[in-house]
Amino acid sequence: MRKKIIAGNWKMNKSFDEGMALVSELSNMIKDEYHGSAEVVIIPPSLYINSISRMTADFANISSGAQNCSNHSSGAYTGEISASMVKSCGGKYIIIGHSERRQYFGETNDWLAKKVDAVLTESLNPIYCVGETLEERESNVHFNVLKAQISEGLFHLSAEQMANVVVAYEPVWAIGTGKTASTEQAQEVHAFIRNLLREKYNETVADHLTIQYGGSVKADNAVELFSAPDIDGALVGGAALQSRSFADIVKAMA
Ligand code: PEP
Repeated sequence: MRKKIIAGNWKMNKSFDEGMALVSELSNMIKDEYHGSAEVVIIPPSLYINSISRMTADFANISSGAQNCSNHSSGAYTGEISASMVKSCGGKYIIIGHSERRQYFGETNDWLAKKVDAVLTESLNPIYCVGETLEERESNVHFNVLKAQISEGLFHLSAEQMANVVVAYEPVWAIGTGKTASTEQAQEVHAFIRNLLREKYNETVADHLTIQYGGSVKADNAVELFSAPDIDGALVGGAALQSRSFADIVKAMA
């Protein structure tokens, strides 16, 4: 059975007090209302990871993580945080290569491959994001783009290392736009990614890989998305900023 993971990426939102209130409400909702086995990952601004991991320590299926990290382990890199710092604050997952990082901060597949290594060196789990722009989909090059993102960012890893990687398919045109990929479109890409893994590694690696979908996921489209055979959870942005809407997505997994 593949692990199902619902992760909420807060991006650069919420004051500390607002964030703690959200986590407190959310963890109570999940405790009372959700009895499934999916892992729920809270991905706040990094400053809050330590408090959140302490607050949720008694909740077996809730963990936390970071939105980015350096490819370096330590040193003179002002403003950066390392994977080991995330780990020391209780974080378990780190998003690598979110499309906003690729677009606004110039992160390339080669650079992201090094960040993936930095995360795995600390025995944490990268959530490696891939996704095409609208222009790329409309000009029918999206499979080539996705293949390059996957192969250049991940294919230097061993099969053993791949067991700790999560992939998130996030079509750029669906992030924060209210436009969700149809379940058929998402399933087609997830199956494509799984097949790339099958060709490069083996059936076990491909079958074990958790592939999340991200892009305007809400409670009302989550049930259908989660019914697709290759969609193993969601990476949620906007709807993760409210306890009720995020808890409803988690419940959709049940
Ligand atoms: C995201 O930021 O990864 C995301 C999917 O955002 P949204 O759910 O708001 O589209």
